[in-house]
Amino acid sequence: MSKTIFDMFEASCQACADKALFERPGQSSISYQEAMVQARQLASVLKDLGVKPGDRVAAQVDKSVEAILLYLACLQTGGVFLPLNTAYTGTEIDYFLNDAEPRLFVCTLASFDEHSKRATSSMAVESLGSDADGTLMALAAKAQPLTEVMARSSEDAAAILYTSGTTGRSKGAILTHGNLASNCESLIDAWRFESTDRLIHALPIFHTHGLFVACNMALATGATMIFLTRFDVDELIDLMGSSTVLMGVPTFYTRLLKSSRLTHEATQGMRLFTAGSAPLSAEEHATFQERTGHAILERYGMTETCMITSNPYDGERRPGAVGMPLPGVEVRIADRESGAALPQGEIGAIEVRGPNVFLGYWRMPEKTASEFRDDRFFITGDLGLIDADGYLRIVGRDKDLVISGGYNVYPKEVESLIDELPEVVESAVIGVAHPDLGEGVTAVVVVRPGMSLDATQIKEALSDKLARYKQPKQVFVVEELPRNVMGKVQKNELRVRYADIYKS
Ligand code: ATP
Ligand code: MG
Repeated sequence: MSKTIFDMFEASCQACADKALFERPGQSSISYQEAMVQARQLASVLKDLGVKPGDRVAAQVDKSVEAILLYLACLQTGGVFLPLNTAYTGTEIDYFLNDAEPRLFVCTLASFDEHSKRATSSMAVESLGSDADGTLMALAAKAQPLTEVMARSSEDAAAILYTSGTTGRSKGAILTHGNLASNCESLIDAWRFESTDRLIHALPIFHTHGLFVACNMALATGATMIFLTRFDVDELIDLMGSSTVLMGVPTFYTRLLKSSRLTHEATQGMRLFTAGSAPLSAEEHATFQERTGHAILERYGMTETCMITSNPYDGERRPGAVGMPLPGVEVRIADRESGAALPQGEIGAIEVRGPNVFLGYWRMPEKTASEFRDDRFFITGDLGLIDADGYLRIVGRDKDLVISGGYNVYPKEVESLIDELPEVVESAVIGVAHPDLGEGVTAVVVVRPGMSLDATQIKEALSDKLARYKQPKQVFVVEELPRNVMGKVQKNELRVRYADIYKS
């Protein structure tokens, strides 16, 4: 039987029984041994509630020790863990519960009254809680720890994670035990993760980054996690004094760089800062290095594939690039239409094959089939190129490619030139329906507070830097770009907002 994340967690408990798995500022810490006993007690409660191998356990709970214990308990019983975005409300929750058909839906104590009415004969609703009567944790405290661990093969589902919904409705990606374990092992190796590491965990746990990169790596090595439930720059900088690793998204670094407390001294105990989920600007990469002496290590991955590439731990961490494939992962750049491999340096579809690639989309067999080539390469939906030294560079999403007058315009090329203007904070370039051109290149730009730069000046600044077909037809100056919790710019929202601008 192949190894699972639960097996790796058990091995950590044996090797690091008394070590803190969770450290909680202002509260007592929880050791690996304690976490193991509590997870097994909770597994016993799940079993009593009828959770059998293959049953989905949906959870809309805040990031907490209890939430991770629930994840572990679910893995032990052979259940399929299905975390839901904590921002979802009413009809969204109904949509996901109808889609996933979980055996059990776990919510917070505060939302229990609202959600309890969703219970059916096939789905129980419980609150996680800790100190109130009747919650799962209260039941677990009285339960005998479950000793048996349901045998699972590497092809069995371990979790269903919904994609971020950046390009359309979120899809449930089925991740197997093999996907999670192999990706976790590769990352531990690539980033030299060890039991002595102390990880600052500031990400949500309903995305691959926060659950399968951050938590799994700690659980599998015997490292300590310190949860930051609300992103607070000062708290984060304080924690750096006693931690070793921060796994972040680009917006964390944007916010950190605004603090004068971010210095060499404040970060000297840290050994690794990572970034992913959205592009990290080369400028912020350079400024962070100047201010702290640390080169941020950027990586690339997605819900469907776990992590795909990483910049090297020892070699050059190249700004603007996401590095090389992790061991066992194959990446190729292919023609968008035919899937034929393209020569090095050309832009095309990023396609991935390996033990990290998911089983398929939950209850979407046609969608699943259409996203795989015949030779099992998965079409990521991202466009990129591999540079002369083998580093992958992402140039954007296939769905964001603008086709104007029959020509391909890669938004990132236009955005990079706009972002170089000293008055500009950031920009997003989108395609908007245009009567003559098919799509009109449209730029949405955030200007630095107190500086003045208008649409005409931006257009002028680009006029001799870009071929005419790549130049924005219209430019809008706005206060901020719409983003989700992972800091991803929501271009769909912008496309809706500006949908009518070329209609006469
Ligand atoms: P949906 O698939 O529902 O539209 P999504 O693709 O944003 O949403 P995720 O799986 O959370 O959902 O995100 C994966 C995507 O994030 C990748 O396909 C890629 O576009 C982007 N991404 C991840 N890491 C990086 C990175 N380092 N640089 C640029 N983009 C990145
Ligand atoms: Mg996606």
